[in-house]
Amino acid sequence: MSSTRGRVAVTGGAGFLGSHLCDLLIARDYEVVCVDDFSTGIAKNIQHLVDHPAFTLIEADVAVHFDIPGKLDFILHLACPASPVDYLRMPIKTLEAGSLGTRNALRLARRDEARFLLASTSEIYGDPQSHPQAESYWGNVNPVGPRSVYDEAKRFGEALTAAYRRHHHVDTCIVRIFNTFGPRMRIDDGRMIPTFINQALVGEPITVTGDGTQTRSLCYVDDTVEGIYRAMTATIPGPINIGGDEEMSVLTMASLVRDLVGGESPVTYVDGREDDPRSRRPDLSLAVLELDWRPRVPLEEGILRTVEWYSEALPALFPSRTV
Ligand code: NAD
Repeated sequence: MSSTRGRVAVTGGAGFLGSHLCDLLIARDYEVVCVDDFSTGIAKNIQHLVDHPAFTLIEADVAVHFDIPGKLDFILHLACPASPVDYLRMPIKTLEAGSLGTRNALRLARRDEARFLLASTSEIYGDPQSHPQAESYWGNVNPVGPRSVYDEAKRFGEALTAAYRRHHHVDTCIVRIFNTFGPRMRIDDGRMIPTFINQALVGEPITVTGDGTQTRSLCYVDDTVEGIYRAMTATIPGPINIGGDEEMSVLTMASLVRDLVGGESPVTYVDGREDDPRSRRPDLSLAVLELDWRPRVPLEEGILRTVEWYSEALPALFPSRTV
């Protein structure tokens, strides 16, 4: 099938961000090849696309040799376990996705002279000593702590991407994505918003890690994928931050979610994770300047849209619970 705008491979296309990106690309008239091994993604996320003539699914582990026949114009490399629950459960696989997986995807980009985009992360800033985090900040990461399997895999992926650009002249872009939330996050993936929403919906205590004073800045998924798309169609190499800049404490976030859901769940505290960053907020100056991008969906609206999605999805996931 020939597309009017180009052929895009999305590794990790059955995951949370990847599936929303596949939707956006199909809607904008691209041909999409989704590569996924379903280690953390689920078939349901792309079920509505599988019969679309512009959509192809290749089930493969990107860290093992894989091929995509035919010429590609873009490769968006998202395949990697992304939630702490997942990457702590699959530490070696996470390191391999960031290293071997990134190398394999870069080799394809070189073969096809395609533009390559690495989905990097705010986690490369570690527990930042500079606030807000600009792309020029090099980060503060513990290289041997439990989180290092994710942080260092992404840092290696960035270094490899930069080397392919310098050495092999591959057209690359590094996007540093900050915490994103929205429909299709797995209910059990351990990230803050699905956890809080589901606890509030079923009336269980809302579990805040640590003392709850650590801050995060969240971005609604529609905004994040628009930012990734703009980086894909731009010519800049990055790194470039994509994320929300409305910073608040995790405790405030828990109360906000509870109030928006309308439940009466109490907030309780559980042990914080080792090396959990104290603060997180992107400096978005570069995204505004280079991509004319900033988040549009207000936090409360994004949470309400997500609550609505979970309210519909939850009964199917937990038939025995009353929502
Ligand atoms: P996700 O777990 O929902 O999606 C990851 C997808 O990659 C899944 O479908 C999984 O099955 C697939 N995958 C993992 N390892 C693979 C492998 N070796 N081969 C093939 N497929 C593999 O996570 P997400 O939140 O959608 O994150 C997507 C990407 O964006 C990740 O690279 C992540 O590091 C990055 N990112 C996400 C966020 C966020 O807030 N969601 C923030 C920063 C960076």
